[in-house]
Amino acid sequence: MDPQIKLLRQLQEYDLEIYEINQTTERLRETLDELVTAHDGLRENLNAQKAQLDDTRRLMREKEIELEENNDRYNQSKIKLNQVANTKQYNALEKELDTYKKLRIQLEEERDTLRENLEAFQSDVDDKARKTAEIESQIAEEQGAIDKESQASSVRIAQLEIERDKLRSDIPKQLIRQYEFIQARRPGAAVVAAVNGTCTGCNMKMPHQLFNELQISSKMIKCPNCQRILFFQPAPENGAA
Ligand SMILES: [Zn+2]
Repeated sequence: MDPQIKLLRQLQEYDLEIYEINQTTERLRETLDELVTAHDGLRENLNAQKAQLDDTRRLMREKEIELEENNDRYNQSKIKLNQVANTKQYNALEKELDTYKKLRIQLEEERDTLRENLEAFQSDVDDKARKTAEIESQIAEEQGAIDKESQASSVRIAQLEIERDKLRSDIPKQLIRQYEFIQARRPGAAVVAAVNGTCTGCNMKMPHQLFNELQISSKMIKCPNCQRILFFQPAPENGAA
């Protein structure tokens, strides 16, 4: 193999490790973003339900007042009933009392329904508040992990970059430019093995003659399909990778 290609492969190892570290950090950030989105949705929902809970509470208070007023009216009519002189008035008051009684039953039913709703809303709100708090602590944990990870990553990347830059100075600039050109277009490896006449970068069979040339010549050969820089690698003997 061309010694320069060998150097390029070393360079690539550094680059790929840097790339992997950055990918890992990226994935952690994505996980965090997902948590934050879930949290925001839950928080929004929680606020809506809290508003509903407050509404129900207000309606219940109003209903209690209505009930009290109705009771007062009932009691007043009852007093009047004991003081009336004629049958006509008596009958009218009896009717009134009956109306108040019916209304009380209706109001009590309405209040009980509101109370049931209130209890259901309250337990829903409690449940969501607990979940929101859980996610909040998960977010804090995740954030802590990311901070720790990125600190370690930056140290490692700084080391790798020093090594890489040392190596770069030993490789002709023109070759580096070609390597970077391929890298920019295709993430991952720019220098790949050709095994059994196949480019392992794009898995395409390469022309016979080119593959032969790769085995004997020291000149740089690129895959005609994906343009990656190739090096020859003998096929594993037992067929296993
Ligand atoms: Zn290829």
